[in-house]
Amino acid sequence: MAVTAKAKAMKSQGIDVVGFGSGEPDFDTPDFIKEAAKASLDAGETKYTAASGTPQLRAAVAKRVNSDYSLDYAPENVIVSLGAKFALYTACQALLDPEDEVIIPTPYWVSYPEMVKQAGGTPVYVEGREEDNFNVSADSIRGAITDRTKILILNSPNNPGGFIYEKAELEAIAKVLGDYPNVLVFSDEIYEKLVFGGAEFTCFASIAPDLRDRTILFSGAAKTFAMTGWRVGWAIGPAAIIKAMGSIQSHATSNPPSMAQPATIAALESDYSEVRAMCEQYAKRAGHMHERVNAIDGFSCNRPQGAFYAFANVSGCYGREVGGQKVTDSLSFTGAVLETAQVALVPGVAFGHDTNVRLSYATSMEQIDKGLDRLEKLFGRK
Ligand code: PLP
Repeated sequence: MAVTAKAKAMKSQGIDVVGFGSGEPDFDTPDFIKEAAKASLDAGETKYTAASGTPQLRAAVAKRVNSDYSLDYAPENVIVSLGAKFALYTACQALLDPEDEVIIPTPYWVSYPEMVKQAGGTPVYVEGREEDNFNVSADSIRGAITDRTKILILNSPNNPGGFIYEKAELEAIAKVLGDYPNVLVFSDEIYEKLVFGGAEFTCFASIAPDLRDRTILFSGAAKTFAMTGWRVGWAIGPAAIIKAMGSIQSHATSNPPSMAQPATIAALESDYSEVRAMCEQYAKRAGHMHERVNAIDGFSCNRPQGAFYAFANVSGCYGREVGGQKVTDSLSFTGAVLETAQVALVPGVAFGHDTNVRLSYATSMEQIDKGLDRLEKLFGRK
């Protein structure tokens, strides 16, 4: 967000910045979803709803996840929040006591450690390695578990790299957790529908029925349906935990926006053709960006399998002078690139990997080529 703000400030001064910083779809919300919100407003649905979301939306979320992944959740297993972000936040508040540890594989979405700390917990990082496609092994998770471990956070497809855990990898992790009955799993599946290039998404609950009473799934409308501003996300899990989260939410935000809830029902009950069309665009851009990034001197990048991010290792450029400044880490790298080439990137240090930067391809192919031309000119071709 800080990078986007600086890039916006430069743009407002008339500078032609190419933004690879965005964390949201560049597409507009499909029209049929907007129409559902308008119909809801016209029908006078402008009041408070149930704090955990309308019964209809909770049922629609349960129905969708059940039919997509052969599960059997009931509406009381679902809470709808102000985005998946607030669902995750509330779950941390509901479950963490001081000194509880939360295992977070790296690279991670920036908000996990902060949410854990705000709830009094302690993040424990397990390092993902580039050669393993940044997926952590079951053994390394076992190595991080202590008597104080309360939660393991998984995120597939992942932000910042679009990496996906294969089914067998998740099964191995679930097997390890079988030995530790006090550890819960948060599976952040917000990018579940944005998957491409032959990769397959696996819903954690579908491969670990034995862990169902300690698994919470997180997802939402934001990324799938290009609805980031509508603020509708959800958690799906054991009814007692969902109820506790509802108590917290009812004193924090109350319900997500009234008109956004029927709009999300329309989205969930649709045939997903718009989602597939957006996903095809992301897939094309991902392949193109991956190829071009790997041609730049000092850059290397694993192929994104989902979401809309590429996570490039740029440490081959550290030590070089860029626009008169010596770059030594991801922060100085992104700062120098923004100033010298007017390309906005997100420093990897924010995700726990200072060797890398995140490039979002939630932007047009034209902008992608423009930005990569500039980077290629600045650093040269391999
Ligand atoms: N989880 C991950 C991995 C994300 O990248 C994001 C948004 O960037 C979220 C959760 C939050 O999504 P929402 O907009 O539904 O709060």
